[in-house]
Amino acid sequence: MKKRGFFIFLGIISTLLLLVGCADNDNSSSKAEAKGTNDSEDTLLVVTTYSIIYDIVKNVGGEHVEIHSLAPIGSNPHEYEPLPEDVQKSTDADAIFYNGLNLEAGNSWFDNLVETAGKTGDNAPVFRVSEGVEPMYLTTEGNEGEEDPHAWLDIQNGIKYAENARDAFISIDPDNEEIYRENTESYIAELEELHEKAIDQFSNLPDGKNVLVTSEGAFKYFSNAYGIDAEYIWEINQENQGTPEQVTRIVDIIKENGLEALFVETSIDPRSMEMVANESGADIKGEVFTDSLGKPGEDGDTYLKMMEWNIETIYNGLTE
Ligand SMILES: [Zn+2]
Repeated sequence: MKKRGFFIFLGIISTLLLLVGCADNDNSSSKAEAKGTNDSEDTLLVVTTYSIIYDIVKNVGGEHVEIHSLAPIGSNPHEYEPLPEDVQKSTDADAIFYNGLNLEAGNSWFDNLVETAGKTGDNAPVFRVSEGVEPMYLTTEGNEGEEDPHAWLDIQNGIKYAENARDAFISIDPDNEEIYRENTESYIAELEELHEKAIDQFSNLPDGKNVLVTSEGAFKYFSNAYGIDAEYIWEINQENQGTPEQVTRIVDIIKENGLEALFVETSIDPRSMEMVANESGADIKGEVFTDSLGKPGEDGDTYLKMMEWNIETIYNGLTE
């Protein structure tokens, strides 16, 4: 969004906020009166930037949190245009969780949102779940040295995200510390089990069958953790995706190395990869989750399930 457009947008949002704000206050006070208690005091209002963090934070917060997630399922959280509702929820939020590592950076959408919501400053309850993760870096021209955001594709980092969410909840709601600790402990046990399973499974890959090709180069952390190699059409989602130069580059790599397995991401338009398949003769072996969960009730609708799905799909696709 151009600067001027953004300010007009802010103007509209603030007017809406005033209106929505009044309506909301009326509602909550009448509800609290009707029940004779104030329920909202027991529930933390939380905003997360996209569906994967939503699920991790939900596992940690359990019944004490009500979460609003910003970038919708199936969309690309690198760039997002917050809606009036998002601004309202972020203003009201007791905590906002984001990935960081350069993820929510497109058009500075997240920084602008946090500012509009009045959540800036050292004590603002805005938490980066990737705190403590060892960053990996982009290497393509123009992006060299920038952090690669896709840390959650290594389950050990997903565990760090859960621990950071736990510490954040304890800091803003110390009365429920014990519950947050218990929730996190059992969740981490499940994540650890899946991490070990992935290491076992990928250690059996035959030589020459260990290269994964996706549209976006989102698998750096994943391939580092599970001992496989990863190639891509473009390194990170931004304006230039699937240019003729990018397609030619990956087609050459595929042919030179005799790679056979291509994968498409659920949150990315598959047409670029279809072009790569046509030009290289390699096959698209399956769909993987990178920047988004699956829809509720469908495959990959939790962080655990999306990682389980990715591990199976990639292993089967590489060994087929
Ligand atoms: Zn991405």
